[in-house]
Amino acid sequence: MSGNYIQSTSGLIPISEISYTHSHEHLFTYATPTIAAEKPEMVLDSVDKIGEDINLFKAAGGNTIIEMTTIDYGRDVVKLNEIALKYNINIVAAAGFNKGTFNKEFLEKKSIDEVTVQLIDELQNGIGDTGIKPGVLKIGTSMNVIEPWEEIGLRAIARAHLKTGVPISTHTQAGTMAEEQLNLFAAEGVPAENIVLCHLDQNPDLELHRSLVERGAYLCYDSIPKPQYKTEQRSIEFIAELAKNELHTNIIVGGDFSRKTYYKGYGGKIGLDYILTVFKPKLLSYLENKGLDSNRIVEDIFKENPKRAFAIREV
Ligand SMILES: [Zn+2]
Repeated sequence: MSGNYIQSTSGLIPISEISYTHSHEHLFTYATPTIAAEKPEMVLDSVDKIGEDINLFKAAGGNTIIEMTTIDYGRDVVKLNEIALKYNINIVAAAGFNKGTFNKEFLEKKSIDEVTVQLIDELQNGIGDTGIKPGVLKIGTSMNVIEPWEEIGLRAIARAHLKTGVPISTHTQAGTMAEEQLNLFAAEGVPAENIVLCHLDQNPDLELHRSLVERGAYLCYDSIPKPQYKTEQRSIEFIAELAKNELHTNIIVGGDFSRKTYYKGYGGKIGLDYILTVFKPKLLSYLENKGLDSNRIVEDIFKENPKRAFAIREV
């Protein structure tokens, strides 16, 4: 059952206080040492620069961001909480792991039990000695395959979820292995309603989206503002198709900005306000033209669905 609070970096927040939400972002990340050396644009390490985009996001009606950076990709929850307090915004931090290329060294030689214990400690007692608790559990899988070490992470995430009620949000590579993820979670006893599947907008199979939602999972369309993925129009069309059968109730959105060039504060052009100021009006008018209940659907996608997706479950 879905609860009444989300766990933010600065404490529990009643879901009644949640407004427009981006469900998959990166605000502060050191990336991996190799990536940081080869592609410094992947490192986001300025509270003030990201703050400029946060202010734009807030001016457009946003107040909550699910920050999906994990320990294997340079997470810093003290900085996240600093951003949350300085700019008065709800930030949810992630426990768990990214996809296999990043999580291999963190998982390969561990047992499921060891990883589970480590995750539960973070969720219940906070990360290190910061006292800051993660509010979402992440695991990623690779393109068309779940690597053996990814399965260790996935099963540990499932067990930590069952113990704590902290919701799960996964990385899928280009929207692949979503059904297989749900099957493994189901084998661990985790219902699909407690799982968000990210990057699904990169998978153009509408019938797959429909069946995943019918199973109960949330789908995050989070490549929308990145021009190279070309998922913006498809996301609008898929939301309209799903809304015809009231299945949009499990769609949430985000920008998954993982490099400086996306952010206006770093000199980029798109900005953290893009989804609310550019995409949302496009979605509204498309839904209106289709004769759908546009305002309600948009409120669901941006506000009501994330509340349910990220509420701490009762255990
Ligand atoms: Zn991401």
